[in-house]
Amino acid sequence: MLNETYRAMLGNKSVIRETFMYGKQRAAEIGYENVFDYSLGNPSVPCPQEFTAAMQDLLTNEEPVNLHGYCPSQGDPGFRTDVAAHLTKTFGLPYEQKHIFPTTGAAGAIAHAIRAVTQPGDEVLTFAPYFPEYGPYVAGTGAVLKVVPPQAPTFQPNLDAFEQMIGEKTTCVLINTPNNPTGVVYSAGTLTRMAEILTEKSKAFGHNIFLVSDEPYRDIAFDGKKVPYPAAFYPHTLTCFSYSKSLSLPGERLGYVAVRPGCEGEDVLVDMMAQISRFTGHNCPPSIIQRAVSRCQDVTSDLSVYETNMNLLYDKLTALGFEVERPGGTFYIFPKALEEDANAFCMKAREFDLLLVPSDSFGVKGYVRLAYCIDTEKVKRSLPALEKLAAAYRK
Ligand code: PLP
Repeated sequence: MLNETYRAMLGNKSVIRETFMYGKQRAAEIGYENVFDYSLGNPSVPCPQEFTAAMQDLLTNEEPVNLHGYCPSQGDPGFRTDVAAHLTKTFGLPYEQKHIFPTTGAAGAIAHAIRAVTQPGDEVLTFAPYFPEYGPYVAGTGAVLKVVPPQAPTFQPNLDAFEQMIGEKTTCVLINTPNNPTGVVYSAGTLTRMAEILTEKSKAFGHNIFLVSDEPYRDIAFDGKKVPYPAAFYPHTLTCFSYSKSLSLPGERLGYVAVRPGCEGEDVLVDMMAQISRFTGHNCPPSIIQRAVSRCQDVTSDLSVYETNMNLLYDKLTALGFEVERPGGTFYIFPKALEEDANAFCMKAREFDLLLVPSDSFGVKGYVRLAYCIDTEKVKRSLPALEKLAAAYRK
């Protein structure tokens, strides 16, 4: 008999994918250059030359049996050491090899981290708007995802509601900064207060509440600012990182969980996550990718195009009267739709060949997400279409 849970999921169509497919079909009709597709968060800049050179060097000079052999279930030791050194240098916390668990992207990192700090039936809190895949990542562990309502227009986490919602069963809080879909960076003030609440509630309920911090956009920060690092504010933090965006390697599936030094269970959590992999049958990312990315700890792709695109869109959207928070990072922006129903607004936008994603699947109504990981020249050409869309609501 087929499994009913997974079978039922086939009926849940992803609006992002559907929009992307519509864009392909429309491109066949009017030409790719005329479709302003802001639907998918796929990096638009190439990986750095250092990564390509590292792959070439490994393939040319390493002994193949060794290079392509199994790696330990805790991951490649050299990669783990290099990541720990990078985090220590960047954030001043004494990470060691034992704190780092390589994963298949941020997705694998979050799934392992949550499973390591929850029991079935526990509650995981997250903040709206949130990345829709958090639903399956959490459901797969047997824990229950509870969503703290959003706080427009800044979209900093709603900490008053958060304080009210934390209960005895809350064992884990899942955050994402810089945020998909808003582009908002959680401020140091927000993270300080969040840590105070977590410390108070951990005391009150007699167990530590873990913070799982999803940070695939950490390196895409604007205005020359550094993104405040949540693990620096709260000791019981598992940081989930990915090279999908910072090195433009989403297809290579590499990320990691970094257990904060001083975190409860710091000596066993990585070994536990290696055990979790046995249950998912999804052991270790490819070793050649770990070894190549080891050599790229201090580089990123040229990420500057995202800031250029953000400024063009933010300036135009505000000039047109949209309510929108200026992103501090990522390649997303999240304006309020010009009618209540974001789905209807996105259908209207299609009339001008603007492909936007309605906010409903992110747990918020009435907004749209634009993923501006596209050529700047195309962003510029899309601005008249945005003008026409806004004008259609002025009549
Ligand atoms: N978390 C967020 C907020 C994301 O936007 C994404 C991907 O877009 C992921 C996690 C998953 O990242 P990865 O592709 O590295 O698994």
